[in-house]
Amino acid sequence: MLQRGLLVGAIFIAALVVAACGGSGGGASRSDATIAGAVATVGAGSAAPPGRTDAQAEATSRIDAGGASPVQAGVPAIDCANLVVTPAQTEGPYFKSGSPERTSLIEPGTTGTRLTLTGYVVDTNCRPVAGALLDFWQADGSGAYDNSGYTLRGHQYTDENGRFELETVVPGPYPGRTRHIHVKVQAPGGSVLTTQLYFPDEPGNGRDGIFRPETVLQNVQQAPNGSMIATFTFVLDTN
Ligand code: FE
Repeated sequence: MLQRGLLVGAIFIAALVVAACGGSGGGASRSDATIAGAVATVGAGSAAPPGRTDAQAEATSRIDAGGASPVQAGVPAIDCANLVVTPAQTEGPYFKSGSPERTSLIEPGTTGTRLTLTGYVVDTNCRPVAGALLDFWQADGSGAYDNSGYTLRGHQYTDENGRFELETVVPGPYPGRTRHIHVKVQAPGGSVLTTQLYFPDEPGNGRDGIFRPETVLQNVQQAPNGSMIATFTFVLDTN
């Protein structure tokens, strides 16, 4: 009896310890989830776990545009009712063919504000374009291009849902140009769309004759860790 009593007591104490650790651990992981949630919402692209935290749900709802399809967990919906064919814009003098295939342009030593850009390539019927080529190139945080190598240059392909994700830095403006990211987009077997993406509320936008409001990044937000997140949907006229 004595042994059984000791055993029950030990189990009881162990249960108390586990409960106490779980309580304090939960508090710590909630703040982590707030940071991770805001970034992972747009950054990771993985399906939200069934037990998604309130913080993650909140982050998602802030970014979700509402309406429309196709929707992946944590990625803003496409506003299919208001599609605007993405306009072509000048290539500029700094394009180089042969960029490496990669979704992150971040390399050791890359400076500047981190930017995670996610989005879709769709056709004018709002159908996702799988396997679309996206070839990005841009200036660094101080407005300089790497014209001898491939720094801040890279290409990738949309997944089966027409989705892409780019890890990069916010480009700096340079004389005569507001902040922008160059990109070539091409559906499989389609023609190449060359265009540029812009940042909202930039003082230089109004002074840049090339700037187009149709290609301003959407859902631009600053994550708690200081990095930026944004989305863009490319609409290709494949007719
Ligand atoms: Fe440029």
